[in-house]
Amino acid sequence: MSSRTEPPVRVQGSVSIARLHGRACWYCGAVSRTLRPAGRAQRGAGRMWNIVSCGCHKAPTQTGGSDS
Ligand SMILES: [Zn+2]
Repeated sequence: MSSRTEPPVRVQGSVSIARLHGRACWYCGAVSRTLRPAGRAQRGAGRMWNIVSCGCHKAPTQTGGSDS
């Protein structure tokens, strides 16, 4: 596991405040699963939030090239 810094996710349109506040999975909105830090989200050049993921979203990796 590396600790490299991921670029922030771009926030577009309206996003649930629960996701912005890290109370729900950023990708699917789950709240009852174990949520782990998933980087940050930023709206434009403005505010940045720490977001979380339940694990439903796989971050891009350098190994394994299939994306389905
Ligand atoms: Zn999820």
